[in-house]
Amino acid sequence: MSSSRPSAFDALMSNARASSAAKKKKKNTPPPQASTSSPSPIKRKTQDPDSAKVEAFSDSAKKSKSLTTQTDDELKSKVVLLKRKPGDFDPERVSWWEKGERVPFLFVALAFDLVSGESGRIVITDILCNMLRTVIATTPDDLVATVYLAANEIAPAHEGVELGIGEGSIVKTISEAFGRTEAHVKNLNTELGDLGLVAKGSRSSQTMMFKPEPLTVVKVFNTFRQIAKESGKDSTEKKKDGMKALLVAATDCEPLYLTRLLQAKLRLGFSNQTVLAALGQAAVYNEEHSKPPKNTKSPLEEAAKIVKQVFTVLPVYDIIIPALLTGGVWNLPKTCNFTLGVPIGPMLAKPTKGVGEILNKFQDTVFTCEYKYDGERAQVHCMEDGTFEIYSRNAERNTGKYPDVALALSRLKKPSVKSFILDCEVVAFDREKKKILPFQILSTRARKNVNVNDIKVGVCIFAFDMLYLNGQQLIQENLDIRREKLYGSFEEDPGYFQFTTALASSDIDEIQKFLDASVDIGCEGLIIKTLNSDATYEPAKRSNNWLKLKKDYMDSIGDSVDLVPIAAFHGRGKRTG
Ligand code: ATP
Repeated sequence: MSSSRPSAFDALMSNARASSAAKKKKKNTPPPQASTSSPSPIKRKTQDPDSAKVEAFSDSAKKSKSLTTQTDDELKSKVVLLKRKPGDFDPERVSWWEKGERVPFLFVALAFDLVSGESGRIVITDILCNMLRTVIATTPDDLVATVYLAANEIAPAHEGVELGIGEGSIVKTISEAFGRTEAHVKNLNTELGDLGLVAKGSRSSQTMMFKPEPLTVVKVFNTFRQIAKESGKDSTEKKKDGMKALLVAATDCEPLYLTRLLQAKLRLGFSNQTVLAALGQAAVYNEEHSKPPKNTKSPLEEAAKIVKQVFTVLPVYDIIIPALLTGGVWNLPKTCNFTLGVPIGPMLAKPTKGVGEILNKFQDTVFTCEYKYDGERAQVHCMEDGTFEIYSRNAERNTGKYPDVALALSRLKKPSVKSFILDCEVVAFDREKKKILPFQILSTRARKNVNVNDIKVGVCIFAFDMLYLNGQQLIQENLDIRREKLYGSFEEDPGYFQFTTALASSDIDEIQKFLDASVDIGCEGLIIKTLNSDATYEPAKRSNNWLKLKKDYMDSIGDSVDLVPIAAFHGRGKRTG
């Protein structure tokens, strides 16, 4: 491998610098036309083995002349087809690999590049949907890895698997992989504000003596998982070697997206909700297993909704995708259900400005008012074997942070209770003074590996919901039933485990007094919940059936502040200005 000539590299960098101007211009130019030319010579899909040989021969002859320019342009003109409306799209015309062959990473990187030129959610969803359809049509075994890459994740959030690489390490890897000095890479990064662009520029100006095997989606994904696994002695070196092997083999725009994936900053303007919608829609086109339920007006929208909904109760692509491929999207709610040990998206509350607004919204509805405690949300799973897992609001594993919570619950659960999922708020608590402590005190606790004997700040669990009990799901039940199960399953022990303080009243004065009392003891306000109709647990939803009344956003409390801006950050890289 030789290092690059500075002139070529500089030209590339000035291209990158001009990219934001070019992008602005691009918005005004018509999108590239989908290629309608006859199958390109690089397409290796042919029925006749002899002609395949001839094609392979002419391919390799071409490769020796101008591999990158010609073939990459052809690939790009194929990948542009991903922009077609899914109804007009044919996966056969986009893929350049055989059925059953590993999906090239270049395909995904080029699809990402196509997305980068778009800002509309619908067209981005179409591109992702068509990309996933192509994977399903050719190599369904690669779908899990493709979806993980598109979602820029390497494992379900609750498994707490992280790549564990900092910017410094990526800078070092880029400099080693592409024969640059670290200072050079750092300077360019300061200027461009995107290590991905730095990697792409560094790579394309470098000539290679040996061409490594093209990257595949699975190779990239497995390397990411391997990097995440490395720990202890030499792990930094091993992680760097893993990254370097990928970067060295990367071509075209692959270094850009590899680097951004490693940084967990894909910067393509779509969320995992868009990936889930695209997955649902892609499944509809490949549906061989089941038909949409009768009267389904828009199967695409419905399928997207199903996949998103299933993901709120079982956020694990490794389970959902095989179920989708074998049982079909319409059966997904039956084949994928929530599982003890896997966190469900927590139900959230809508803000309101005063008691009057609440009474207005819940006019003909029975509701309950609860204190809104200021701590950390915890979803506690107790398994049949008596082990516990505790998850944060964002599905992070907090089991190691709260060993005292698990201990208190195993002590206070009634003997009949074998397994459960409890929704609660963990609050810092002064047991001597019998007083709730502010959130700031709780936040001093370490995130991991807390030893019960070293705990300085005690916590009290304030329990407000029960989602599962002894093998029975409860989320489809109304809150009054879930609460009954909750009250029947635990003994209270003040300062360790208490049920949230609640009031059953629709009297405006009583509610106002209750609110004042909650603020007096150090709570943030109230959460008001429907009780016996429209009162199921809605995973991951900011629901109209839970309203929050915080002292901070009440009309009557708070003050305005006059501010004068005295400085502003000019931004970095793409965001400059
Ligand atoms: P947002 O909900 O807008 O994202 P946030 O994270 O600050 O903002 P809050 O506004 O504080 O959330 O309100 C919701 C949180 O209140 C819940 O996630 C939960 O942690 C907490 N909470 C405290 N007491 C209760 C209760 N009785 N019922 C439900 N949630 C409660």
